Amino acid sequence: MQDWNNIRNQFPVLKTQVNGYALSYLDNGASSQMPESVITRLASYHQHEHANIHRGVHYLSQTATTTYEETRRLVADFLNAESLEQIIFTTGTTDSINLVAESWGSSFLSDGDEIILSEMEHHANIVPWQMIAQKTGANIKVIPLLDNGELDLDIYANLLNERTKMVAVVHVSNTLGTVNPVSEIIAMAKNVGARVLIDGAQATPHMAVNLQELGADFYTFSAHKMCGPTGFGVLYGNKSLLEAMPPYRGGGDMIDKVSFSGTTYNDLPHKFEAGTPPIASGVVFGEALRYLNKIGMDEIAQRESYLLKYAMKGFKSLQRLQLFGTSNNKTAVISFLLDDIHPTDAGTILDKYGVAVRTGHHCTQPIMERFGIPGTIRASLSFYNNEADIDALINGIKETQSFFN
Ligand code: PMP
Repeated sequence: MQDWNNIRNQFPVLKTQVNGYALSYLDNGASSQMPESVITRLASYHQHEHANIHRGVHYLSQTATTTYEETRRLVADFLNAESLEQIIFTTGTTDSINLVAESWGSSFLSDGDEIILSEMEHHANIVPWQMIAQKTGANIKVIPLLDNGELDLDIYANLLNERTKMVAVVHVSNTLGTVNPVSEIIAMAKNVGARVLIDGAQATPHMAVNLQELGADFYTFSAHKMCGPTGFGVLYGNKSLLEAMPPYRGGGDMIDKVSFSGTTYNDLPHKFEAGTPPIASGVVFGEALRYLNKIGMDEIAQRESYLLKYAMKGFKSLQRLQLFGTSNNKTAVISFLLDDIHPTDAGTILDKYGVAVRTGHHCTQPIMERFGIPGTIRASLSFYNNEADIDALINGIKETQSFFN
């Protein structure tokens, strides 16, 4: 049994007062907060361990290399990946998807090939594919959304054919909270020989992920949504595919031998990691993973599911409110509109009560187009939120409604 109160107290920023109210931080989908142990790890790294990695024979360089590479092992364990070579460090989900779209796409896509995306994708899983489609002549097909915010898998089945080379879909929608049946989506893609990329940015912070079971070719996520630092992320890839793909960026560390008569490249994962990486962020992310592991991802999932239920009970008492994303299989993300009150106005009033929510299109404009709305108000919860945060949200919504009345 976890002491969730104690866990919450480990996050210094949650003690902030905003406009005289206790902060209710409900914008975890955009970025999560860091506990004390993760924050202090950054200082201790700089006080005792910092040097550039992979190159030096001296003590500090070797220590920093070992610590940084320890994060790779923690990531591989976290994902149940087969090997360390499959864990490529990037600057985040966006960078990871761009790497795959450009490197894999430039080698394996040609004129008339098809890429399947979904209507609920984050722009990070749309635009890189549009860019490579334009270069290669490939076409993009889109799995539509049902009214409840799930994907229409019947239409997906019809879109698949022998021209389908890539299916790139989100594991959990950042706007709707929908948890997609990714095992089924992957199995259907494999049936026609297509490759699959899963954008896991909103899954890894909230649930255990087992990549050996899932069988995706690529899986991507960002550290800053997992109590870790900004500017750091992961690309997991199928080893033989990663080996067949050309480097994405050139420079130091990604080479084996450089000469004007020709250059050869380093082994995986370094082939895709040119230049000095964000070493401190990598070390700090290792600490964040230790922190999450200590609580346990299944415990986190249960806690957040309880908070979602608690919130939905409160939302039942509200009127003139439309919910977007009502699947039974969803994470603790609540997207809504308050009749014709503009989301930005609602967000501004909620902020007066210390309630931090996100408003707008959440980098998912096709979802907004699908529902014919300008944006939503999104409360996205984490395990360190509590009932008081949700009560503050419900009260803030009532205040917003009475203000506009
Ligand atoms: N995909 C999804 C589902 C996301 O929620 C986000 C972040 N909002 C991204 C991709 C992009 O992540 P990053 O900005 O960390 O690269």
